[in-house]
Amino acid sequence: MKKRLFVGILIVCLMIFFTSSHPDVAHCAKKFVTIASGWVTGVYFPLAGAISRIVYEKVPDLKVTVESSGASVANAKLIALGDADFAILQNDIAFYAYKGVKPMFDKAVTNIRGVASLYPEHCQIHARKDSKIVSVKDLKGKRVSVGPLGSGTEQNAIQILEVYGLKFEDLGKVERLTATESADFLKDNRIDAAFYTVGVGASAIVDPALMIETVIVPIDGSQADALVKKYPFYAKDKVPGGIYKGVDKDVPTVAVLAILVAKAELEEEVVYKITKAMYENIKSIETAHAKGKEVKLEKALEGMPIPIHPGAEKFFKEKGIKK
Ligand code: GLU
Repeated sequence: MKKRLFVGILIVCLMIFFTSSHPDVAHCAKKFVTIASGWVTGVYFPLAGAISRIVYEKVPDLKVTVESSGASVANAKLIALGDADFAILQNDIAFYAYKGVKPMFDKAVTNIRGVASLYPEHCQIHARKDSKIVSVKDLKGKRVSVGPLGSGTEQNAIQILEVYGLKFEDLGKVERLTATESADFLKDNRIDAAFYTVGVGASAIVDPALMIETVIVPIDGSQADALVKKYPFYAKDKVPGGIYKGVDKDVPTVAVLAILVAKAELEEEVVYKITKAMYENIKSIETAHAKGKEVKLEKALEGMPIPIHPGAEKFFKEKGIKK
């Protein structure tokens, strides 16, 4: 009898020891996943933050942590290495990654899978008015930030300059600055213009436009036609007037799409739960940033250039969303 009591007490003690010292047992095996996002002053970062908050509130067995990064190209490489579970990036760059287009990618990122198309991102060239830049051609000889290292912006800058007959070597100075640095350099007159492929209304452009006279340089006419023809991920679009101080009229430009991706190795259930939570709590995405209002279930598979992750596919099938 005494012996039985002793064994019973021992078992209870061992159980207490394991549940209190082993975090997985104590916290019901919460799974941690990461989203590689983008610039702190961009749109990916606040949207990824909103996804993380939704998951925190609605999916108790998962926890999403958000990382800022140079953005699209860097994010595709994080997926390839398995260092990010999810990422937000441009649909053109996702396609180049999947196909292994050089020199951006040494080899194909075969494990990148689509989750959802989010919203259009516009190619916006922010110039100081006193630099007298009114056309992309005028960037010749000027001091220009072409986007952070590892950004999709930099790739778009190369392609946009190309259709205007320019290369980086034609610029007076080429800077690869973070979006925050670009804004500061513009304000301090250390650069004349900066490229951003980002959701309209990003604070990277809104904030410096409050301090300096601003021009958003148009991408239009035969050059826009040539761009769309050669690189079909671009669509002609416009930056609406009234978003940035001093830019009252619409400015024609081109846009690509921001998409959410996941690594192929991620369990179907995890991707399913996060996709479902995101669309069932879309209000939180809408309030995270003005661009969040453009994230729509009906558009979730539009412009998706890579195969869909089975977890996302399962959710969209349930909802009757087709490509
Ligand atoms: N589209 C940008 C890039 O890859 C990032 C934009 C953002 O962080 O919102 O260059």
